[in-house]
Amino acid sequence: MKTVWEKLTAKEEKALFAFGEDYRKFLGMTKTEREFVREAEKLAKAAGFKPLAEVKKLKAGDKVYAVNRKKNLCMFVIGEKPLTEGMNILGAHIDSPRLDLKQHTVYEKDGLVLLDTHYYGGIKKYQWVARPMALHGVVVKKDGTIVEICIGEKSTDPVVGISDLLIHLAAKQMEKPAAKVVEGEALNVLAGSRPMKKEEKEPVKAYLLKLFKDQYGIEEDDFLSAEIEVVPADEPRDYGLDRSMIMGYGHDDRVCAYTSLRAILETEKPERTSCCILVDKEEIGSVGATGMHSRWFETVVTKLLALSGKATPVEINETFEHSRMLSSDVSNAFDPNYPEVSDPKNSAYFGGGIVFMKFTGSRGKGGSNDANPEYVAEIRRVMDDNKVTFQTCELGAVDVGGGGTIAYILAQLNMDVIDAGIPVQNMHAPSEVVSKADVYEGYRAYKAFLKDVK
Ligand code: MN
Ligand code: MN
Repeated sequence: MKTVWEKLTAKEEKALFAFGEDYRKFLGMTKTEREFVREAEKLAKAAGFKPLAEVKKLKAGDKVYAVNRKKNLCMFVIGEKPLTEGMNILGAHIDSPRLDLKQHTVYEKDGLVLLDTHYYGGIKKYQWVARPMALHGVVVKKDGTIVEICIGEKSTDPVVGISDLLIHLAAKQMEKPAAKVVEGEALNVLAGSRPMKKEEKEPVKAYLLKLFKDQYGIEEDDFLSAEIEVVPADEPRDYGLDRSMIMGYGHDDRVCAYTSLRAILETEKPERTSCCILVDKEEIGSVGATGMHSRWFETVVTKLLALSGKATPVEINETFEHSRMLSSDVSNAFDPNYPEVSDPKNSAYFGGGIVFMKFTGSRGKGGSNDANPEYVAEIRRVMDDNKVTFQTCELGAVDVGGGGTIAYILAQLNMDVIDAGIPVQNMHAPSEVVSKADVYEGYRAYKAFLKDVK
């Protein structure tokens, strides 16, 4: 396999590293779906995108976007051809595995104050202990006021974390299977140890609650209507002595979301309408009003059609039927430490470029979209015409495991969809790793897809 690195000109190499640096910084600023939407909206506005709600008429080249409940968004660049002839759609998710605070979360035990959590998405729980963590999210008060929380990101901020058992006393724990070494109910965040003077009942908790009251104006009951995510406090960093990779929290799937976002931001006057949809809740089944299963996307597209006076049920369905999509999500990068879980012929490798997966799923392709070969051929044509380096893979060897994406959900609207994405090591760990070469090639692939897929 010839890697992206070997094909680079000096100019391309410079562009690749510059893009990697843009992404590294963006990833550090967007550790929650809300933060991603906030930053993406800023970039969209700066690139001339207008809120769909404010638009009365649409013509080719117009750029519009819509945001759903501050947690997912979609963007469009209107094409020369009528919308009913279909869109070229980039999709990715912007939620990542993490720990969420429970509703009744603050409690005092043995002179310490802790925050009880429920993990979100599939994690190896033992990876999330004994490391610096930050709190990100919102607390919504009864009068509707939203208090933003972000503690642990500035170098002067305190961090929190979950304790682990010292090795000296862990003989029994070390005999347990990895799934049980750290149990879900043991994921309690240590938030303080200082008692309030002259307070008899739960003085350490009282001190912490007073801090919340003084600094944020929130009461204990306000946590009932909060959404606070406990995430790794580290900044994404260059990884490898040659700086060829990036280590950071939440590459899954912000690496595909950011590259898709950049591709549509830089799209001008496409032939077919370009679309980028970034969704929440993929890690827990694409459920909820902001997940891919929500009717929101269909509603937005119907509004677009209505602006051109073409929104009958048949026209709406035809628009989807003629659309083509890249459902982008990370895949597993082949790992020489664990070669036995993969089929080397059908694996993704760091530096191999964007990955296309005809199917995902597990146990006989269960739950997979399985793209049509006619569509796969069109993708090959466009990638080759644009000199984009790509590889193909399956998520692991047959019967080892598997995974799902949002691909099958859009395919239900009767459109051509294929899974695409960027290979990652340490998937779902607090620090994931991607290759800068694949990030750059993903971005180039998305631009080519929006421009040239018919
Ligand atoms: Mn994912
Ligand atoms: Mn995932």
